[in-house]
Amino acid sequence: MKNIEKYLSLLNGEVNGLLLTSRYSRHYGAEFDIAEGVAIVTKKGCRYFTDSRYIESAENGIKGFEVMMVDRENPFNKLLNEAIEDFGVTVLGYEENYLTVAELLDYEKNLKAALVPYNKEIYGFRAVKEDWELDLMRKAQDITDKAFSEVLPRIKAGMTELELQAELIYCMYKNGAQGLSFDPIVVSGPNTSLPHGVAGERVIREGDFITMDFGVLYQGYCSDMTRTVALGYATDEMKEVYNTVLQAQLAGIAATKAGVAGKEIDAAARKVITDAGYGKFFGHGYGHSLGLEIHEGPNCNPGGDRIMEVNMVSSAEPGIYLPGKFGVRIEDVVVFTADGCEDITHSPKNLIII
Ligand code: ZN
Ligand code: ZN
Repeated sequence: MKNIEKYLSLLNGEVNGLLLTSRYSRHYGAEFDIAEGVAIVTKKGCRYFTDSRYIESAENGIKGFEVMMVDRENPFNKLLNEAIEDFGVTVLGYEENYLTVAELLDYEKNLKAALVPYNKEIYGFRAVKEDWELDLMRKAQDITDKAFSEVLPRIKAGMTELELQAELIYCMYKNGAQGLSFDPIVVSGPNTSLPHGVAGERVIREGDFITMDFGVLYQGYCSDMTRTVALGYATDEMKEVYNTVLQAQLAGIAATKAGVAGKEIDAAARKVITDAGYGKFFGHGYGHSLGLEIHEGPNCNPGGDRIMEVNMVSSAEPGIYLPGKFGVRIEDVVVFTADGCEDITHSPKNLIII
């Protein structure tokens, strides 16, 4: 089904128009990414408004919407009100999670239709991916895999985390990244106990764990992966913790299939870590969904009640973080199938000692 048809199916007797303001939902509805703009969806017609910087690519790339240019004489509110009148809109559903208070106040004051929060409905479709969306995510994940294999030989004792981060970003773009899905996490030594630490001036040394959590954007879709590698050597404790995290991830992946709740998958992975005595050092959830955004629902965490469906996506990222010592996280992205899952991350997961 075309995404625009999914949006149209949301329109009923009460809400007869959608106001798409976020880049994500405009991208999803138009199946084409324009950095800035506003779109309106109704059963009588759909219009997409953007300014002169984007108008040419919008006219060439957007299907299913009438594309119109905003300028000083024709600001967004004027064009929106024309559409509201032309299409007989009385109630517009809007994305309350992606609108500033100032923007909402402006729309409430100036638009000639009532506004109702509709984020849940507008975003509800995105959890189950279309096959073409999964193809883009596989491509994004492939770029991430390639970047990882190319950055490994660049890791040397004496370089700083920031220098390694620069190499990693270079490897991502060199292999086809069109953007980064988030600021990479590159931490070393004791900093690896910070699940979302930030790269700094610390010099990487022999005996360090190095955790790299990174992802790219490819045609608007995100990849996400984490690998923890050791430089020079790893102590027995480092190997034990690494292996525990790996076994936890494999247990989570083994429990991953359509028809189970996210929390069951989290529990399968968490059990391995808890049984090994590290339960209190795994503070975050096992997995999050992703797609156009790096963090989407549903989640595979202890509160994940939603039953997972075929073509949903989740990260698989257990970790153990020992404060002041080191931490390990291993992250893949998997696609739910009827009887299991497809792991779309292909980088090796055995402990790599460089
Ligand atoms: Zn990640
Ligand atoms: Zn993640």
